[in-house]
Amino acid sequence: MIADVFRGIVTTSNVIAETPGGRDDRVVVVGAHLDSVPQGPGIQDNGSGSAAILEIALQMAELDIEPRNKVRFAWWGAEESGLVGSQFYVDNLSKREIKNIALNLNFDMIGSPNFVRFVYDGNGSDTPLAGPNGSKNIEQVFLDYFINQGLPTEPTAFDGRSDYGPFIAVGIPAGGLFTGAERIKTEDEVAIYGGTAGEQYDPCYHLACDTFDNISLEALDQMSDAVAHSVLTFAMTT
Ligand SMILES: [Zn+2]
Repeated sequence: MIADVFRGIVTTSNVIAETPGGRDDRVVVVGAHLDSVPQGPGIQDNGSGSAAILEIALQMAELDIEPRNKVRFAWWGAEESGLVGSQFYVDNLSKREIKNIALNLNFDMIGSPNFVRFVYDGNGSDTPLAGPNGSKNIEQVFLDYFINQGLPTEPTAFDGRSDYGPFIAVGIPAGGLFTGAERIKTEDEVAIYGGTAGEQYDPCYHLACDTFDNISLEALDQMSDAVAHSVLTFAMTT
């Protein structure tokens, strides 16, 4: 076995852009991590989520959408080193700024090759952990969307494993989507989603082979539409 370990101090950044308009006391933070593990390019993890929210930001500008609530897009740095970028961001918010964030949407891996459509289980109905009050409503927006599309979904544990963790830790409701990482797809899931039973949802999870070939464009397309729907829903809600 070979251990390849980097130890040292590096500088990284969060990239943040927000709509000029919209209520700044009801901010919708839409996040995806921009870094990858050192072992690979991270096209699925998390080029998929980063690209989806970038396209939505560009389209909102292009279409001159004037949101009721301010939308703040965040591409987090150093998620893979322990949610460093999002934790730094939340740690540096004042009490007032925390109060002004209505919710956080998080998209980390939404094009897994052997995908399942997972929705964060905000109310803890199917998994041990519930999010802060309001997370249930966010989950419901995704569930209603997919029901309308005729696309089945599964709940996934709201365990703080991605950049929404620091937000829920300070009581900000959150939600998001996920198409699976290193866990193994079951026969039951194959019956619904297709793909290969007994293989990882993402066979190149955290590996050098996480390249453009490691994306399901079908999953990315379906999930990106759901991302856009959720961003617009919360941008416009009263
Ligand atoms: Zn990730």
